[in-house]
Amino acid sequence: MDCIFCRIAAGQIPSTKIYEDETVVALADISPITPGHTLIIPKRHAENIHDIDPEILGRLHQAAAKVAAAIKRGLEPDGLVALQLNGRAAGQLVMHYHLHLVPRYEGDGVTAFDWTPQQGDPDEVQKTADKIVAALG
Ligand SMILES: [Zn+2]
Repeated sequence: MDCIFCRIAAGQIPSTKIYEDETVVALADISPITPGHTLIIPKRHAENIHDIDPEILGRLHQAAAKVAAAIKRGLEPDGLVALQLNGRAAGQLVMHYHLHLVPRYEGDGVTAFDWTPQQGDPDEVQKTADKIVAALG
């Protein structure tokens, strides 16, 4: 297995573990966007949201809530971004599911998640929503 996150989860590569249970590992991102940037990964390999077992996804998010609460208590950030990328076009760099928890601080200068909301065409918004609803079945 040549997956860096599988090897981290198995303890074959050292990492700064923040939390671990039978299903997931939370570790400090080695290239933090802000102080406290944490990744939550499943121990069992899954590439993305389309691939991960929904049970594991649920447990991963329960763990993420725990870690987020600890970030809030421990670092007292002004806010927190939970971000998860799927596919290279979305900016996913490691092809093993990971949820980013990025504490945000007033004036931290991070612009990666900032965009200016612009009112969409309501008909287009509705049409697009209809396509998703139809696909839900
Ligand atoms: Zn993996």
